[in-house]
Amino acid sequence: MAITDKIYVKNHRQLASQLETNVPKGAFKGATLDLLFQGEGLEKLDDATRERVLDFASDFLDCDCQDNPYCGCPERKFIQYLLELRAQGLGPDAIVDVMSDDYMVYAYAGDVLSFLDSGVRTLEAAEGLAGVDGHPEKQTAIREAKDELAR
Ligand SMILES: [Zn+2]
Repeated sequence: MAITDKIYVKNHRQLASQLETNVPKGAFKGATLDLLFQGEGLEKLDDATRERVLDFASDFLDCDCQDNPYCGCPERKFIQYLLELRAQGLGPDAIVDVMSDDYMVYAYAGDVLSFLDSGVRTLEAAEGLAGVDGHPEKQTAIREAKDELAR
């Protein structure tokens, strides 16, 4: 399962009751994305909540793909966001705190940790392949990304 399948809407029951509709717990579930993408009923949310929902939509759902929000961009962008937080030196607990503050979503620190670990392993494999293929500059770039992630 991808890490984006393990990102949850914080206070999703409260959100559902404000919106008077069902809100799935998973932030990247189709129905959640539809809700955010269509923006229907968002005016019923309190200010703090609405601001975060709109931030989430504008930061992750803003692509022009025809099948938006099912194009995969939201997940890719969110993973990029997680990697950026990691590159800033944040650990799994701090990453969860920041995503809650920023977007009112959360994950379990253990899931974030294994995501970061598997990221390092993926980059290690890519680094090895770039070496085999004779792309030393690519290999260096991958190694730098890996070291940043593993810090
Ligand atoms: Zn897209």
